Amino acid sequence: MRRTTNPVYAGVLTIGGEAPISVQSMCNTDTCNVESSLWQCMTLVHAGADMIRLTTQGIREVEALARIKARLRAQGIETPLVADVHFSPDVALAAATVANKVRINPGNFAPNAEEGRDSFTKLLNLCRQYGTALRIGVNHGSLGQDALLRFGDTPQGMCYLAMQWLRICKEAQFDQVVVSMKSSNTRVMVDASRLLVAAMEAEGMAFPLHLGVTEAGNGRQGRMKGAVAIATLLREGIGDTLRISLTEPPENEIAVGKAILRHLTLQPLRPSVLPPAALRLPPAAFTSLDSLVIALSCDIGPLLLDQKITDVAFEAKVGDRTLSREEINDITADLLQATRCRFSKPEYIACPGCGRTLFDIEKSLEEVKERTAHLKGIVIAVMGCVVNGPGEMADAHYGYVGAGRGKVTLYRGKTPVIHAIPQEEAIEALIKLIEEDKR
Ligand code: SF4
Repeated sequence: MRRTTNPVYAGVLTIGGEAPISVQSMCNTDTCNVESSLWQCMTLVHAGADMIRLTTQGIREVEALARIKARLRAQGIETPLVADVHFSPDVALAAATVANKVRINPGNFAPNAEEGRDSFTKLLNLCRQYGTALRIGVNHGSLGQDALLRFGDTPQGMCYLAMQWLRICKEAQFDQVVVSMKSSNTRVMVDASRLLVAAMEAEGMAFPLHLGVTEAGNGRQGRMKGAVAIATLLREGIGDTLRISLTEPPENEIAVGKAILRHLTLQPLRPSVLPPAALRLPPAAFTSLDSLVIALSCDIGPLLLDQKITDVAFEAKVGDRTLSREEINDITADLLQATRCRFSKPEYIACPGCGRTLFDIEKSLEEVKERTAHLKGIVIAVMGCVVNGPGEMADAHYGYVGAGRGKVTLYRGKTPVIHAIPQEEAIEALIKLIEEDKR
């Protein structure tokens, strides 16, 4: 049964309460480029996005968001727009007068909840005045010193951080709040969300949850990471809105999100059967490879993620074609890696890119994957910007991070080692760095 939550109103969209689970995405355009952002918003609307987020790192971006919103509304498009704010309470205040919803990251809104209390209360008051919803978007990679010192970068630290800020909302009697607990690690994301739900219940809070695995990358691996974690929680009744984060055109995120919801509606959770350690599935037929990936992620992913099973074997037909043993092994390897049961391939952490990305991140990720596919056990992050990227690279061995227009900085662990080189030279430099380290 779905968890009972407060309805939160973001323009025409209701999140939580009795409302259906919504699917959202984020533009990867420069918000100040109103024409291209508008074009991408329209593409997302046509793909079925229930809500669209745009990056608003400064006041200029907030002003551009206002123009984008006015142009959409003039065309009769009421899809709610969300302003994504990091670091600046002043920008959040400005965004609250324009956007239907503002997302803040409590890890970088203020050094801690006490120091941020005044500016956060101002933000809540302004949101109340303008009918703007708020998301407290906790990110595993940017918890802030207070939570890190107390709990480290753990699900407990994420829960602690979220609760600090949710308590201020509760004291201020502001209930138009959605909360998210994102990580690129599927188990951390699921554990943190479960802890948060328990902590909220203990304190009489019923804020809706936004679900997402951040920096999931692209292709099958990216889809599986998002789907296994989100399906695990949705099957427990947790989750009111979701975003599949992919380093791909954002409309692809909507298609995957909707496919997950469709699959879960058609395949409600079966009564709990205790499966053996390695589960053998009966042969099955699928209309496409994508539907097989969604079905495996949503039905088998939760069992693997919670370690109720340790392996899976299956046979499948896609259309008229029976999948070869090699194809099945490859798909199984991705599923086991997405659920963190077994690592047999390189692990890629990659953000979807946003208005802060000033190089071709989709192409770069493809190149990095192609050139490093043989490096089992290595973790490589491809991130769009130096502002949030390095903090959110988790435990990557190497980072390929945007450092200005067409420029990339390479990291060994958390240390920048090759600064702001042209994107065209970055892949060779990364390979050389890895070779020098004898990986
Ligand atoms: Fe945008 Fe990526 Fe930077 Fe996050 S890390 S702010 S998604 S470019």
